[in-house]
Amino acid sequence: MAQVSNADIASAFEQIADLMEILGKDPFRVNSYRKVARVVGDCPADVGAMAQAGQATDLPGVGAGSAKKIVQFVTTGKIEVLDELLAKVPPKLPELLEVAGLGPKTIAKLWKQADVVDKDSLAQAIGDGRLLSIEGIGPKKVQQLRKALEFAAQAGGRLRLDEATEYAARLVAVVAAIDGAESPTAAGSLRRGRETVGDIDILCTTAGRGRAAKIIQAFVQTKQLEIDKVIGAGQTKASIVLAGGVQVDLRVVQGGSFGAALQYFTGSKAHNVRLREIAVNKGLKLNEYGLFEGDRQLAGRTEDEIYQALALTPVEPELREDHGEIDAAGQGRLPQLVAIDDIRGDLHMHTTASDGLESIETMVAACRARGYAYMAVADHSKSQVQANGLDAARLAKHHKAIAAAASGIRVYFSCEVDIFKDGSLDFDDDVLATLDMVIAAPHSALSQKRHDATARIIRAIENPLVKVIAHPSGRLINVRAGMELGIEEIAAAAAANDVALEINAYPLRLDLRDTHVHAVVEAGAKLIINTDAHTVGHLDYMHYGVLTARRGWAKAADVVNTYPAAKFEKWMQR
Ligand SMILES: [Zn+2]
Ligand SMILES: [Zn+2]
Repeated sequence: MAQVSNADIASAFEQIADLMEILGKDPFRVNSYRKVARVVGDCPADVGAMAQAGQATDLPGVGAGSAKKIVQFVTTGKIEVLDELLAKVPPKLPELLEVAGLGPKTIAKLWKQADVVDKDSLAQAIGDGRLLSIEGIGPKKVQQLRKALEFAAQAGGRLRLDEATEYAARLVAVVAAIDGAESPTAAGSLRRGRETVGDIDILCTTAGRGRAAKIIQAFVQTKQLEIDKVIGAGQTKASIVLAGGVQVDLRVVQGGSFGAALQYFTGSKAHNVRLREIAVNKGLKLNEYGLFEGDRQLAGRTEDEIYQALALTPVEPELREDHGEIDAAGQGRLPQLVAIDDIRGDLHMHTTASDGLESIETMVAACRARGYAYMAVADHSKSQVQANGLDAARLAKHHKAIAAAASGIRVYFSCEVDIFKDGSLDFDDDVLATLDMVIAAPHSALSQKRHDATARIIRAIENPLVKVIAHPSGRLINVRAGMELGIEEIAAAAAANDVALEINAYPLRLDLRDTHVHAVVEAGAKLIINTDAHTVGHLDYMHYGVLTARRGWAKAADVVNTYPAAKFEKWMQR
């Protein structure tokens, strides 16, 4: 039997939905497949196993038909309906879905009206002007597709959170410098703190009437940015492509609609659909201009007043994924999320003793400068040969050096000890016992399947000397998927053994990921947010970890490095 991950199931259902839409099938059914894809993709439990146990229909939106398809997929590696749909379209047509700006409906038109059947024929059709004969496709759209096709060919097409954050900071500064532009803000999935970001949405307001178009013009003509292409520049909206292929949309909105626009363009789509339903049920209309009763605007200046007018507690952007936050907001039981100011220490960083770039002294001074009460130096263990991992003798010497460098801040002596394939560790217990804090982490055999990976991590958790599991899945964003984990079992083991599961804040990792964090919080297990810094600058990655924690509904009490020094010490000693 093939092992099928939740991600595999989700993408199969997403593909069914796309193909049905291309073939012009009932939109209601298309949406129900999309819902299944989303629910399965976000589910912490092994949905394949659930389906085989007859429990998949417990998941919201998963009916008997979908459950049957999941069982079919798990047992045979195929879904009959999907194969039938695939047989009805040209074999490489689905790859066009990877091109930004191309949805199933447009693909259907390209295929039927211009014989576009894959990326190559799309490039050809763009070149020979054939696309312009299609209804609804003008020169602007063709230009946009040309650009998107190039971008899709280059990268996966999505920026990491840190890359997007840097772009957004620059864009916000550029807009802020334009005469008349006020309150420039990044919206979209970046504002929700998602681990990757497609394009960047910036909003601003303006007080003066008629100024919007001037702001748009100033933006597309700025010399502060390397603009590769201006896709559009209208009265209130500009779309540009920066060198490197990142698309940016700037919208200038009236102050009275700023909150509504920010809410609308922050998304997620699923969250906004739910919000609009609530408005409709109250006889109101919600859009990017405000909340309306007939023509009268009831709210729109701030996001908070929109939520409040819908009888909801305002929802933090990181929670807006339709993962239960709307019900919680209606019942006044949204969590008080952990914030960057709650963090009192960073417990995973490297020095020149292994593969870090700075001395112990430099890292200690940098943590002190950040106002932390405590920190831990955790260089690699001996199996990490390429990272200059420490053997027992070097580790003992390192311990003395750390003790000598500690001043003005509590410095714990730690080590990032490899977890082998079978869950055993890189050092014997007598060496581990010399450490203040054992951080265990998987670095090899990361293609292990869910069952083995879960057993591996749980065995490490059950070692009484282990206090933290670092980057538990070993994934690297846009590089490798890492191990699929049975996060609920792992969280239960962590709770039972008082071991903290790390949210590695290094933006290439963000591991645990958001949905894992949610499962850990639900299980009552503890989290720890660490940067895994290899330089002083990396210590500033902490906020990416905090964003990920917030996306997983974590409160300060769920995160051990928010504890005051004495409480943290007590937790360490337990
Ligand atoms: Zn590591
Ligand atoms: Zn590390």
